[in-house]
Amino acid sequence: MEYEAVIGLEIHAQLLTATKIFCGCSAAFGAEPNTHICPTCLGLPGALPVLNRAAVDHAIRAALALGCTVHEGSIFARKNYFYPDLPKGYQISQYEQPLATQGAVDLDGVPGPRRVGITRVHLEEDAGKSVHEGFVDSDRKTYVDYNRSGVPLIEIVTEPDLRSAGDAAAFFTRLRALLVWLGVNDGNMEEGSLRCDANVSVRPAGATALGTKAEVKNLNSFRFLEQALEYEIDRQIAELRDGGRIVQETRLWDAAAGRTISMRSKEEAHDYRYFPDPDLPAVEVDAERLSRIRAAMPELPDARRRRFVDSLALPEYDAAQLTQSLAVAEYFERAVAAGAAPKMAANWIMGELARALKDAGADAATSPLAPEQLAGLIALIEKGTISGSIAKSVFEKMFASGRSADEIVASESLTQISDESQIAALVADVLAKHPDPVAQYRAGKTTTFGFLVGQVMKAAGGKANPKRVNDLLKRALEP
Ligand code: ADP
Ligand code: ZN
Ligand code: MG
Repeated sequence: MEYEAVIGLEIHAQLLTATKIFCGCSAAFGAEPNTHICPTCLGLPGALPVLNRAAVDHAIRAALALGCTVHEGSIFARKNYFYPDLPKGYQISQYEQPLATQGAVDLDGVPGPRRVGITRVHLEEDAGKSVHEGFVDSDRKTYVDYNRSGVPLIEIVTEPDLRSAGDAAAFFTRLRALLVWLGVNDGNMEEGSLRCDANVSVRPAGATALGTKAEVKNLNSFRFLEQALEYEIDRQIAELRDGGRIVQETRLWDAAAGRTISMRSKEEAHDYRYFPDPDLPAVEVDAERLSRIRAAMPELPDARRRRFVDSLALPEYDAAQLTQSLAVAEYFERAVAAGAAPKMAANWIMGELARALKDAGADAATSPLAPEQLAGLIALIEKGTISGSIAKSVFEKMFASGRSADEIVASESLTQISDESQIAALVADVLAKHPDPVAQYRAGKTTTFGFLVGQVMKAAGGKANPKRVNDLLKRALEP
């Protein structure tokens, strides 16, 4: 019997606000432990939460970009459980009435399902962080850092629309890029600002009923997500083929061992004894607020990609590459606005610039070379002032010094030699100096042509117009 996998993801994304969701403490990552804390985020008796409007605005931005309906009223609820990193004994979350529901993400360009439904987007607070130390029982210690307690999160829940580990990773990649693009999340999975739980079941191919699912918790990289799902799908299929049953449970990915392991039986909603938080009023989102947020949203990656193809005639591949981050897309558009031909700008940005930025540990937003400067370089190539190979070295110099292409070309006399008589003189010189390859060429061994071109280019310091060199050399070699 053939089996099919069914996958739905639950993603937690920290919102990029200056302060926490219910108090004025800094939400920044990486401070000394327990320095961003106050009575509210420590859950001390009598401290009351006050909702951070910026967190709600960020959540709305994400929800709108995910095509969700944002509800006029949503409710905070207490999710009760006990853990040392949760000082109140409950997490403030949303349950029955979440901020937003019923969106979708298009996965065009990725093989597999076209659309992944978004069930809901809700607001909640992050918990603190337990830090474990020591491997031997006698010196095992656990510390708790409450800096993360109360950092704003959105939870994004998908419909069970994904059908393979690869699709799940592709979707998560797309979602991460979108959240970063919107400026609501920093996409940093190593620091835990973006985390993913994967729900997976298998069923006989063609069946419509869902199988029993397992949830794999805390997959903090695309690779782990994909590996854990591949393992888990195989495990479940093998279990069913052996005549066994899948138990509904929570599992962990053991990256070192390359397998998922059972952590606990799945908790049910009633285990959490949800109820509306009496300390917080309903979140009200009126039409005016929605339209203000909508108006301030950047053009979304899909729309921008389409526009690059439709109105700038870029190939699909280039358009997809250039819309992987907002900074790169903006860089490209500024270069084009400064007069660069779109396809040439795309080549330089995806090629030389990407390499140079990577080597310098920078990105498009912090590039030492402004897009207008790149456009200046491209203009010199298009006018034939400099050759393509000289352009590469001019680029390096621009990148390192911040000087303009015009300045570098003028001060280092790099202007391309296109003058026929000048090139003809170089050609004559090279022919005189290398009688053997010349004779060989004339005797029919035309492979020596490349060598002779190289010699002329060398004599010209790389500045000769390559097409002219080819033409004149060919003519001179003719009997
Ligand atoms: P629970 O009540 O166990 O939390 P939900 O219905 O709220 O389950 O779904 C949680 C996540 O699990 C969602 O992403 C959903 O798409 C996914 N999911 C639900 N049922 C299945 C299933 N049978 N197989 C795979 N994923 C599922
Ligand atoms: Zn606080
Ligand atoms: Mg649920």
